[in-house]
Amino acid sequence: MYHLSALMTKNCRYFQLYKQLNILSLENLHNIEKLCPYCKNKNIVRHGKVTSSNSQRFRCKNCLKTFTETFGSPFYRSRKHPTIWQDYLVNMWQDLSISRCSINTNIAHKTSFLWRHKILNYINNFLSLIRPHENVSMLLKVYKTTSKDMSLTDNDRSTQYDNHYFSLAFTKKKYISIHPLGKGPFSIHKIPDSFKDLIKNIYSLSLSNSNQLLQYAKKVIPKAKAGCDSFLGIYNVNMGLWFLHFFGVSLKYYSNYLHWFASKYYISTFSLKLDWINDEEVSYQ
Ligand SMILES: [Zn+2]
Repeated sequence: MYHLSALMTKNCRYFQLYKQLNILSLENLHNIEKLCPYCKNKNIVRHGKVTSSNSQRFRCKNCLKTFTETFGSPFYRSRKHPTIWQDYLVNMWQDLSISRCSINTNIAHKTSFLWRHKILNYINNFLSLIRPHENVSMLLKVYKTTSKDMSLTDNDRSTQYDNHYFSLAFTKKKYISIHPLGKGPFSIHKIPDSFKDLIKNIYSLSLSNSNQLLQYAKKVIPKAKAGCDSFLGIYNVNMGLWFLHFFGVSLKYYSNYLHWFASKYYISTFSLKLDWINDEEVSYQ
């Protein structure tokens, strides 16, 4: 999906914002090409403009479908002016609530919700592609959701949790890689394939929060040991504090929020210059 926005041309009114979102999404780490969003073929040609928005249209010579340059970006089919979007991004990156962003930018509450997730989905598409490799410190984060099983009595339900695991890995080059690992508890007989796949390019690993996964990791990576480095510990604490703003985020959006926080870390770590972030932004390292 993230390939698609490479379609945007410099004449598009959202181009500046789109460029900035790509910087924030560490576009330099990814292989971005102009591809057909339907069949991924490179053989696409310009195909007129959309009269209402003056957007460039393209046509794929392989599957013959047509699509506009904003396809796959948060601005797809938007009728709002880029200055409103920019204003929204300013508010959003101050961690303001969906309601507050809606009031401050004078858009509907529903639009504010949709925009937040369009933006976060877009960033998530890039950042979730980052894989841990070489020397890595990894921490497993547990997200507890209460059981939806209504056959339980209220008393039971309050103590029934599903544990969903996410791995947070920090690599030598200062990239944070975040991946869902599925539902725990794990055992040595029940190691998720996502974890097996995740650690295959790692030489040395320090891992905290799951003895079962560590036991497995030791079989694959001779240099695997328990613990995580202090950086990752601090990152995790800061992220926990930040998450207090968004208490009760649903599991389905959890990954988006983890990557949102990662984007804040990238802004300070790699000194990313963005129009909607002022330089006095708190450091999240
Ligand atoms: Zn195609």
